[in-house]
Amino acid sequence: MTKVPDILWLEEIRKEDIASVGGKGASLGEMASIGLPIPHAFVVTSQAFRRFLTESGLENSIFDEIGAVNVEDSAALREVSEKVKRSVMNAAMPQSIRDEITTAYKRFTGVGIYVAVRSSATAEDLPDASFAGQQETFLNVSGIENVLHAVQECWASLYNGRAIYYRAKQGFDHHSVNIAVVVQQLITSEKSGVMFTSHPVTGESFTIIEASWGLGEAVVSGSVSPDNYVWNNESEMLVGRRITKKLIEIVRDGVNGTKMLDVSLERQEQEVLSEDEISRLATYGHVTEEHYGVPQDMEWSIVGDEFYVLQSRPITTIKVSDEKRGLQEMEVKEEKVIVQGIGASPGLVSGPVVRVHDVTEIDKVKVGDIMVTTMTNPDMVPAMRKTAGIVTDEGGITCHAAIVSRELGTPAVVGTRNGTEILTEGQIITIDGEKGLVYDGVIERVLKQETSGPQSVLAKADIITATAVKVNVSMPEAAMRAASTGADGVGLLRIEHLIIGLNKTPGWYIQNHKEDEFVEELMGGIKTVLDAFPGKPVWVRTLDAPTDEFRNMQGGHDEPHEHNPMLGWRGIRRDLETPDQFGLQIETFKRLWALGYDNLGIMFPMVSHPDQFIRAKQLFTEAGVDVNAVDLGIMVEIPASALMIQEFIDAGIAFASFGTNDLIQYTIAVDRNNEHVTSMYWPKHPAVLKLIKDTIAVCRENNVEVSICGQAGSDPDMVKWLVETGIMSVSANIDAVEKIRHAVARTEQRIILDSARRMY
Ligand code: PEP
Ligand code: MG
Repeated sequence: MTKVPDILWLEEIRKEDIASVGGKGASLGEMASIGLPIPHAFVVTSQAFRRFLTESGLENSIFDEIGAVNVEDSAALREVSEKVKRSVMNAAMPQSIRDEITTAYKRFTGVGIYVAVRSSATAEDLPDASFAGQQETFLNVSGIENVLHAVQECWASLYNGRAIYYRAKQGFDHHSVNIAVVVQQLITSEKSGVMFTSHPVTGESFTIIEASWGLGEAVVSGSVSPDNYVWNNESEMLVGRRITKKLIEIVRDGVNGTKMLDVSLERQEQEVLSEDEISRLATYGHVTEEHYGVPQDMEWSIVGDEFYVLQSRPITTIKVSDEKRGLQEMEVKEEKVIVQGIGASPGLVSGPVVRVHDVTEIDKVKVGDIMVTTMTNPDMVPAMRKTAGIVTDEGGITCHAAIVSRELGTPAVVGTRNGTEILTEGQIITIDGEKGLVYDGVIERVLKQETSGPQSVLAKADIITATAVKVNVSMPEAAMRAASTGADGVGLLRIEHLIIGLNKTPGWYIQNHKEDEFVEELMGGIKTVLDAFPGKPVWVRTLDAPTDEFRNMQGGHDEPHEHNPMLGWRGIRRDLETPDQFGLQIETFKRLWALGYDNLGIMFPMVSHPDQFIRAKQLFTEAGVDVNAVDLGIMVEIPASALMIQEFIDAGIAFASFGTNDLIQYTIAVDRNNEHVTSMYWPKHPAVLKLIKDTIAVCRENNVEVSICGQAGSDPDMVKWLVETGIMSVSANIDAVEKIRHAVARTEQRIILDSARRMY
């Protein structure tokens, strides 16, 4: 076997060299080999790192310690991580490696002595490990001593707490995970950004480019709302362009640093890219996607006339669908409505009917079918992931089928009453999930929409609103889709979908002494959402599953039979009576806080008296949580809690959020899931509005954040009223975030204009 050198230049590297140069290094080498303009770089190989471990003697000491630590014990994990990192930093780098890095670094002179030093772990950046990118990057490093120091910091970062935790969970062996370090000429970008070579959510053939001034960190970190361009890969034309107000840019600063500058007034609303530049970037994207055979997420920059590609990796969020199979060949029919219901999840789609009578039949469902059933329940979620559309007899806008299909982005019509009677197995139908209509056959609008280009790609946040616009999430798999809306955080993460997905009740885990397994599952799901919203608030709601939804799960036979589960043993009242089950949730949150997720807030559902909040808080305290350091809030879903909001504030809630789905049904006594009373379910009933208005007023007086996460928060008209009434944040469904952001912005501007007019 030939000996791998300590240093490899990009020109010497191919994608197969991942073991020596890590994911990042291999990808840069491969990109350079296909002619993409990559800034000069060399890689300090993983063999060099290995030699450092051996020659310094660290190899004999650190792995035992890492292997022995219980990664669930966050204090112990932190301690071992700090100790090992210190050992790595304090050990001397072998002289020959120092010399090679020094010689290589000197070769940069003439093209710029500033470099970026980035770690390139051998398990990181692999398609199924893309969350692992926890290691270090140092920008703007200059001077050989600083470069050597940064290389060593990158080596040490292989042992930060999250990396150790991640590897343990993924089953990677600490001994065999190496780290390489990329040292790359730093480009003093005048313009930079990111590019998706296919639509990051739907996979459609559009290149999406985001661009802003200065270094790319401004776009990548989300500190600026970038210009957004949509390029149709097939027609090779610019089909969408949104120019934003770019208030800041990140530039190099001194040695080793970067700083944020205000963008000059005349450049703030100036278009960053010309059409020629967009076309050239799209070409680079196309070449890269062709080469790798999968859509890419790339970083690029431009200095004068020079283009650079800085990074490329596979997009991991695309949901590959073949829902459109064969539709083009089918006969197009006149629009004839055959079934009507409630539009529960927007979208227009055609496909063959598959009738599902109960959970035993879900395997019949194939990708692209339209599932027709009496009512979905949590057991049917695997089939709901495959269907192109859903039609149910029962349910309203906030039923299970509606919530899940909105989250999956699957069109749905619910509450048709007779869908299962009228629609026959195999019949081709079209459903309109916006209007709540089902048509016979394929209608022309479906085929048209498939070639008209996505509007949704323009949905990223580029409007700043004073009222935060957040998003609701129920299934961790929807986290990236939810984050791609640019929402200001998650106003409601329902964990019962996650728990029901485990198919075992929390009680089952306790009876079988598998508490830790439960905590890990729950933690993993919540963490996926937290990772998708770094630095933004994520309010996780404690368990709120009605007993009937638990009954089909393992351990569910113990669930009490209730005459009316909606008014039954659920939400906080159940948790307070089963402190062992509540304790598992608290343990999960505790571990997440200990991992540094201080953006995690907790929200209690179905609270009707401040004593329940006080008791819940006490259980957190008894479990060792510093309740003054975290945000604990309540859902306002029961009129009692709206009427007693002052007492809740006195009890110390950090926030209150209207769960209007329940607040409406409990205020006017209309079952939210009963299609026979759907027409009576009245979100703007004066009594509901009065409860909301009075609650907002009290919260504002006391400076407590007041929000909404019920379905009414996805209705632009209702949101207009809420903003006028003083709501501080709104949390909408994924599909509604953009229109709600517009409604909020328009209402806020109207309020400002009206008050300005009153002043003059
Ligand atoms: C609500 O009641 O408005 C709410 C958001 O909770 P759920 O729909 O889960 O009952
Ligand atoms: Mg509710």
